[in-house]
Amino acid sequence: MTERVRVLVVGAGLGGLSASLFLAREGVDVLTVERHAGTSIHSRAAGQNWRTMELFHWAGIDEEVLAASPRAAQGLRITVATSLAGRVLHRLVEDGSEFDVSASTTLPAGMAGQDVVEPILLAHAEKAGARVRFRTELTDLVQDDDGVTATVRHRDSGEETVVRADYVIAADGGRSGIRQRLGIGTTGMDALSHCLGVVFDADLGDRVQAGVTDLFYLQHPEFTAGLVNTDVPNRYVFAPDYFPEKGESPADFGHDRLVSMIRAATDLPDLEPEIVWTGSWEIAARLADRFRSGRVFLVGDAAKVTPPTGGQGGNTAVGDGADIAWKLAAVLRGDAGEALLDTYEAERRPIARMVIDTSLHNMKQRMHPDLDVSGLTEPVDMLDGILGFRYRSTAVLSEEPDDGARVEDVHAPTGRPGFRAPGLASTVDLLGRSWVLLCAGDGTAWQAAAAEADIRVDCHVVDDSAFPSRYGLSTGGASLVRPDGIVAWRAKEPVEDPVGELRRVLTSVLSR
Ligand SMILES: Cc1cc2nc3c(=O)[nH]c(=O)nc-3n(C[C@H](O)[C@H](O)[C@H](O)COP(=O)(O)OP(=O)(O)OC[C@H]3O[C@@H](n4cnc5c(N)ncnc54)[C@H](O)[C@@H]3O)c2cc1C
Repeated sequence: MTERVRVLVVGAGLGGLSASLFLAREGVDVLTVERHAGTSIHSRAAGQNWRTMELFHWAGIDEEVLAASPRAAQGLRITVATSLAGRVLHRLVEDGSEFDVSASTTLPAGMAGQDVVEPILLAHAEKAGARVRFRTELTDLVQDDDGVTATVRHRDSGEETVVRADYVIAADGGRSGIRQRLGIGTTGMDALSHCLGVVFDADLGDRVQAGVTDLFYLQHPEFTAGLVNTDVPNRYVFAPDYFPEKGESPADFGHDRLVSMIRAATDLPDLEPEIVWTGSWEIAARLADRFRSGRVFLVGDAAKVTPPTGGQGGNTAVGDGADIAWKLAAVLRGDAGEALLDTYEAERRPIARMVIDTSLHNMKQRMHPDLDVSGLTEPVDMLDGILGFRYRSTAVLSEEPDDGARVEDVHAPTGRPGFRAPGLASTVDLLGRSWVLLCAGDGTAWQAAAAEADIRVDCHVVDDSAFPSRYGLSTGGASLVRPDGIVAWRAKEPVEDPVGELRRVLTSVLSR
């Protein structure tokens, strides 16, 4: 028997679950399969940046995520040092108060671990109508002009089901079997470095600042390592590098050796840490050559793997999932032409490149001074990259002249097409659900234009003195904002024929 579904999502990590949630909220029939028995048991990606929280806000889960990360409100410190009580080489973040993003968003960032966020995404995706099947893996996938035929197998019963989908989202992680099956290559470095992940319990006293997220990059004479506290009191993650090229493997790091490394890292020679979990990771920097093959889209780590120095892998997996979700929903509803789907790669791949290169520069500064970063694009400011990123694609009507910049200053957002609509207190709750026209002035003409549009366009007059300048509008102007909160187009001044103008713009940005 063949099971019919509009979108099949493979993988229930941050990328797959976000895509499932956003698709289900758009009313799309979505089935998600995940080979593991449940969501992630490790808190790998601890941290939701402001853009992720904006997407979560629109999905109705930001408050739950915040409540699950009590450290978020308290601050963040990032230090590069020889050991916890040793020489401080750089203080990258003092306490988090230097992150003034108030011109761009009113929402806070989160600090919850992936093990906490994934169950929230799962619960809300299912509540919105997504079907999610665990211990179920994709074993085959063939596509034709009309759809994709996939075989999924239950790992306990061995039962196989054929699923026929209009589209497939491959959110199957860094080693993506689907990407390999499609013959999509990658560029970059496969094994940049290798590290252990050691979760331990101990009382580190005032070596670590309680309450805040206190992240250390340690350049100890005997090892390099990361060390960070967690939401659980007296629980830490210690992540030392190891070197296969010197013949090392995780098996060489037994209990006693790890204890002595933790003592050296913390400058507490008598510490008796209790090791509760160990694992190992390969740190890679890898970008897929294409994000789309026919009816299949790569999302999250399947599309790119970035070093964790920057905390962007999970956040951009959420961003990918949200981006492809609204576009697929628009095409499946008949609001948009198929070519809208090409804008997924056009928009998200440059972001992936920017994130990888910036994270590599960070890695050189924080952990590996010898890392060769020649040939990479220049790093961008962290906040500008998170909130001031820019899309160039046919789903945006860019304004000329294009200054060529990849990002804009988070402290002075411009409201230009291709950038995030600045999140004012007066606008944040108007966005994120549909196409929206935000009007400066009385808005009557634009309201008529929105009513004439043949897709849903919500029209709002924004009564906020900060709005016109922040969005770059004169009285009578309007901004057209996409369902993902990106400005698609704006009329800085009133136009003669708003009905015709809006129709022309929608035809263009929706690839009709
Ligand atoms: C040590 C470490 C620290 C990190 N810190 C951060 C951080 O601070 N901030 C941040 O944003 N990111 C961080 N990351 C990165 C982040 O964890 C990943 O980028 C993120 O988990 C990617 O999500 P994903 O959904 O794309 O992939 P994954 O989480 O890998 O999910 C893919 C899923 O697909 C499933 N799957 C694979 N093949 C199949 C199949 N054939 N059938 C069914 N299911 C399949 C897998 O079982 C898996 O559950 C860190 C990563 C590491 C390793």
